[in-house]
Amino acid sequence: MLAAYAVHVEQSRGRRFPEAQHPYRNDFQRDRDRVVHARAFRRLEAKTQVFTPRFSDHFRNRLTHTIEVAQISRTIAAQLGLNVDLTEALALVHDIGHPPFGHAGEKALDAAMRRHGFSFDHNLHALRIVEDFELRYAAFRGLNLTFEVREGIVKHSRDYSADEHPELAEYLLNQRPPLEAQLIDFTDEIAYNAADLDDGYEARLLNLAEIREAIPAFDRHYRDVEWEWPDAAEKLLFNESLKRILDDFVGGIIRNTAAGIQKAGIASLDDVRTHPLRLVGFNQEVAALRQQIKGFLRSHLYLSEALDPEKEKAEQVIRELFEFWMAKPEQLPGSYREKSSEEPLPRVICDYLAGMTDNYISQQYDFYCGGMRAST
Ligand code: MG
Repeated sequence: MLAAYAVHVEQSRGRRFPEAQHPYRNDFQRDRDRVVHARAFRRLEAKTQVFTPRFSDHFRNRLTHTIEVAQISRTIAAQLGLNVDLTEALALVHDIGHPPFGHAGEKALDAAMRRHGFSFDHNLHALRIVEDFELRYAAFRGLNLTFEVREGIVKHSRDYSADEHPELAEYLLNQRPPLEAQLIDFTDEIAYNAADLDDGYEARLLNLAEIREAIPAFDRHYRDVEWEWPDAAEKLLFNESLKRILDDFVGGIIRNTAAGIQKAGIASLDDVRTHPLRLVGFNQEVAALRQQIKGFLRSHLYLSEALDPEKEKAEQVIRELFEFWMAKPEQLPGSYREKSSEEPLPRVICDYLAGMTDNYISQQYDFYCGGMRAST
C-alpha cells in the first residue's frame, strides 16, 4: 500500500523522450532494470569501496555495497509506505558515478581537475552517465530515465543552488526531494558503517575490544549475545551484534521518519517537497550511535596506515595519467579525441578516468606511464 506522500508512478513527470508503456513493468521498474543493464553498473564490480582485493576477495566492492544499500532501502521504503520500485532504482544508481580506487580516487580526480580550473563531483558525473554516456538504445543517448530517478541522482546527499548550477534548474532545486530519494542518503551510510565494521574486523585492522569500547550499543548487544550463546565463536558473536546494530539503524529511521511525517502533517508528495527540511532522519539516540561509529571508523580504519599504500597508488596513478593525456591528447581513444573538440580537455579526460575500473586504470597506467617512470 502506497502512502499518500509517496511518489505514485502514474504521476511521474516522465522521461525526456516519451516512450510507450511496457506491458509488464511500470516506469520505475523499467528504470531499475535499465540501471542494472548499464555498463557503468557492471563496472562497479571492479571498483574499490574501502578495501582493495589485496586484503581479501570476501570484502565489499562498489557493486556489493550497492546491492546492500538496495536491500536495506527496500525494507525501510516498504515499512514507510514509499514507492519500493523507485527506491530500488535510486539505490542501484546511487554510486554509478564513482571513479576507481574508492574515496582516494575521487579525491585525486577532483585534485587533478582543480589544477586545471575544474572540479569532479560524483553526482553530476552519474547524471552525465545516465543522460549521455550509456549507449544502449536506438532512439536516444543515455538511459532516458524518469525525472524522479534523475532528480534523486542530483539530490543525493547534497543540495545544489540554481545560481551555481543553472544547468540543473529543471530539477526543482528549491524543493526537497521525495522521501524515496531522501532515504538513500541514510541507507548508504547505514550500509557502509555496518560493512566497514565487518570488513575492518575481518581484515584484523579493527579489534573487538576497541569496537566495544568505542560503541556502547555494540558492547550492550555483544553482552546479550554472549549470554545467549556462551560457547559461540567470537566471529559469530560479532556478527550477531552487528546485525542488531543494523536493526537499530533501520528501526530507528523507520520510527523517527514516520513520527516526523505525522508531526509535520505531511499528507501529499507536494507537502514533502515544500517542507522546509528533509523529513527522513534518525532520532537522537541513533544519530549518536552513527557519530560513534563514523568517528571510530575514521580514526581506526579510514585514516589507518594500513590503507596508505592504496591511497598513494590512487593519487599517483590518477595524477600521472591525467597529466599524460593533457600533454598528449592524441593518445586518447578516438571517441574521446572527438569529444575534446566540443568540451574542455580536462573534462573529457576526467570522464574517461572516472569510468574506469581499478583494473583497467592500472593497466592504462602501466602502459602509458610505466615506461615514462622507468626512463626517469
Ligand atoms: Mg554508496
